[in-house]
Amino acid sequence: MDEVFSEHPGTPESAVWLKGELLRIASALYPDRRPVVAREWTDPVRLRDPAPVGHRFLFLCCVGGDDRPSSPGFDDVLRAFTTEGWTAHRRSPGPPGESWATARREDFEVRVYEGSGPGLLTFTGWTPVVYTGRQLGRPWFTLSTVPGVLCDDCHGWGVCLLCEGRPYSGGSGGYGRCVCAGNNAGPGKCIECGGSGALTAKATSWVRKRYGLPDPDGTESFPQVPAERGYDSATSALIAVSERPCACGEFRCLWRNAITDADDHTLARFAGTCQGCAAPRAYAFELPRH
Ligand SMILES: [Zn+2]
Ligand SMILES: [Zn+2]
Ligand SMILES: [Zn+2]
Repeated sequence: MDEVFSEHPGTPESAVWLKGELLRIASALYPDRRPVVAREWTDPVRLRDPAPVGHRFLFLCCVGGDDRPSSPGFDDVLRAFTTEGWTAHRRSPGPPGESWATARREDFEVRVYEGSGPGLLTFTGWTPVVYTGRQLGRPWFTLSTVPGVLCDDCHGWGVCLLCEGRPYSGGSGGYGRCVCAGNNAGPGKCIECGGSGALTAKATSWVRKRYGLPDPDGTESFPQVPAERGYDSATSALIAVSERPCACGEFRCLWRNAITDADDHTLARFAGTCQGCAAPRAYAFELPRH
């Protein structure tokens, strides 16, 4: 599960290109500040067999935050992407004080996010899936890119993996209808998720129950948790957070952040939903004020 892609044999050109591109855009926004790659990892992509048929390569870059000279503003961040040939779409409405957007270029995608406070500006970028053998199409989602939890039946493909989405199963003569064809979801679609690639709300609730977790009440976007010390910047705190696994073992989580001033320190809070078990996750850090 925990795969570090710099150790991945044969890091593909697409991953090298994307990393360089993100760091270049970040450096142009903050010429005085070195962008930091907080974490790099891969998402294995499966069909029916447990062995992956390909991988997607991902980066989490910390671009701005911590005593930056001045914030370029979220619109300027998006302009930096469009100038480089990306198509950027601001997502709205975000939670108050937070901004996020999606930037696309061919099959590359970046989630651009700024926390409240103003908080950290992060880029989460991913490559198209790189297949090792048979070149397949594009799954709807992989483990890190799914909003919620990946469907455990189709692994994000949205299609029935018995017939791989074909109306007839082929195999013995080509006229046998697959079991998925009789389902309301229609021929070829994954029965479990209805073709979305992500677990339905009901299925997600079952996953939480399996892990003994309550459903979130949705009142507090940054839950109160005891603040930790020992980190000197929000960036170093995010690097630590991105390495920590959930109780279920999964580390993948789309981290949001909020930075506020307290009496004699800065409070950095991080929150997200685990992409393995849908548990709410939260950390808080007391940072020295600069
Ligand atoms: Zn599914
Ligand atoms: Zn089928
Ligand atoms: Zn989890």
